Amino acid sequence: MNPQSLTNEQVGSLVKMLDLTQEHEFTCGECLMHAGEFAESKLAGLPLDEALTLVEQHLALCPECREECEALMEILKAQS
Ligand SMILES: [Zn+2]
Repeated sequence: MNPQSLTNEQVGSLVKMLDLTQEHEFTCGECLMHAGEFAESKLAGLPLDEALTLVEQHLALCPECREECEALMEILKAQS
């Protein structure tokens, strides 16, 4: 992506996204690392521990991880 093709508005929203990520100090990699556990806990109706609560918060901000997680839950549901 050529940075010069971005409008100020686009740069602004990118910076905002980065801010949100840093604020939670929880990256997509970390989120996906716990995604399996998260999906299992959700499906089993188990309480979420600290890490899984962070996953849930990350999913609220990150459509990509949310999609991954939803796909994972579908697979788990189909298996049970
Ligand atoms: Zn993510």
